[in-house]
Amino acid sequence: MPFVTNKIKTDRLSICRTCSYYKRRTQSCGPLAVGSTVEHKGDKVKLCGCVMPIKANLQIADCPIGLWTAFFTDQDLQRYKDWKQRYDQDPRKIVDEQDQQQLVRMYEAAFDTKWTPTNCRSCWQSMIKALNHFVSNSHKELERVDPESAEKKVAR
Ligand code: SF4
Repeated sequence: MPFVTNKIKTDRLSICRTCSYYKRRTQSCGPLAVGSTVEHKGDKVKLCGCVMPIKANLQIADCPIGLWTAFFTDQDLQRYKDWKQRYDQDPRKIVDEQDQQQLVRMYEAAFDTKWTPTNCRSCWQSMIKALNHFVSNSHKELERVDPESAEKKVAR
């Protein structure tokens, strides 16, 4: 599922509601829809303008000033894309130990669960299929909620 638990969503929203950039009337991060660019700790940061009760629901969403983070991070996404590119070029390739460790970590981050490595090939294939769905669904949801941020994550 590309969504976080209710508890995590509530925790994220509690942070937003005490943030000086949060717009109470529209429940958005900066001005609704358009967002804005602000100076934060010496850096220029683009506030997304998203409706936070929707965006805070997504696993791959993060706060532009880092007050709360994604569960499936940009690094996870990049690692997954690199691995998938290699795997797609040669699907017969046996996934080596380092790949296995990374896949398990990504799977556990995506599904908030424990996964015990196994020698069962079809178990790995099911796991990879689940991760594929997770990444593509997460992207679709983020595109719907915050197209600019989704585009950046794809381009990375
Ligand atoms: S996402 Fe971050 S910057 Fe935006 S309102 Fe929430 S805490 Fe503030």
